[in-house]
Parts: sequence; structure tokens; C-alpha cells
Amino acid sequence: SAEDKLDYVKSKIGEYPNFPKEGILFRDIFGALTDPKACVYLRDLLVQYIKQSQPEVEVIVGLDSRGFLFNLLLATELGVGCAPIRKKGKLAGEVVAVDYQLEYGSDTFELQRAAIRPGQKVVIVDDLLATGGSLLAASELVRKVGGVVLESLVVMELVDLDGRKKLDCKVHSLIKY
Ligand code: AMP
Repeated sequence: SAEDKLDYVKSKIGEYPNFPKEGILFRDIFGALTDPKACVYLRDLLVQYIKQSQPEVEVIVGLDSRGFLFNLLLATELGVGCAPIRKKGKLAGEVVAVDYQLEYGSDTFELQRAAIRPGQKVVIVDDLLATGGSLLAASELVRKVGGVVLESLVVMELVDLDGRKKLDCKVHSLIKY
């Protein structure tokens, strides 16, 4: 069942206290991806969710860099296109940019203007929702190029940080901590 698959994936996700710095409990999706069954189950869960939640999606946008594990995967399964949002300076051609807040200081995300046509329906994917700053910036970028954000989808959510409160689109997480 879906619940068994979710439990299996969850059991394979790594936990690293005080990484990348003191006080952070790092949830390591790569720990699950070395396990063949966890890969297939994770794919099944994400694909099944989007098929029922957003059957009209046209572009899957993945966030730098662990979102890239899922945007092409979902796009091929759904028969739609995909696009990356990357840290400043990595994408060629005309880009739009948005600054976002980190725990200390800020960073800049970019999206290629040609990646999404005006009016296209978009789902944004990443591995984990923490404060929500990254997904907020991503949805701003998608809207800047004329895309319509249907939903954001993450594998994991740190519920206590209340990141989803920051976001003005539908948010779904498979695993809540
Ligand atoms: P935020 O913008 O605060 O929602 O942070 C989300 C981004 O930071 C995602 O791309 C995650 O990969 C990464 N991230 C934040 N906190 C963690 C954590 N505890 N474990 C793993 N990744 C994290």
C-alpha cells in the first residue's frame, strides 16, 4: 500500500545532527536513494500524488539542487516538460531573478524566461520544506515569467518551522517531521 511504501522510504532517509552546522538536524534524502526499492517507491508516491492532485500540470519546476532529482522524473512520468531554478549565475540566456532570505544573509535564485510560457500551469518540487523561503522565492519567479503556480510538492516538511504559512499556494509533503 501507499502507507507501506511511505514507511519504507522514511526508514531509509538519513539523519545527521549538527550538519551543515551546529543545531541543524539534516534530513538526507540521498540516504534513501541508494536503496533501489526506496527509489521506486518514492517515484510511485510522487507520481501518484501529482496525477490525482494536479492532472492539468504542464511544467514541473525543480529547485537547486535536490529538486532536480524529482523534476525530470515527474515530467517524464506525466508527459510534461520540466525546468530548473538555480542559484544566481548558472543559467544561460535571459533570466529573471529573486532574492530570498537564508538563516544568515540572503541569496538569489534565477529562472530562464523561456522556460515557462505565459499561462502555463506549474508544480514546484524540492526535497524539503523548512522556513519556506526557497519555495516562496520559486513561486515568485514562476509568476514573474507568467506561469501559474498550482502547487508545491516536497518529500519532507519540518512542520515546527511553519514554512507553509509563508506560501500562498497549495503545499503538499509526503513526510512530516
Ligand atoms: P527553506 O528555504 O528554509 O524552506 O529551506 C529549504 C531548502 O534548504 C531545501 O532546498 C532543503 O534542501 C534545505 N534544507 C533546509 N533545512 C534542511 C534540513 N534540516 N535537512 C535537509 N535539507 C534542508
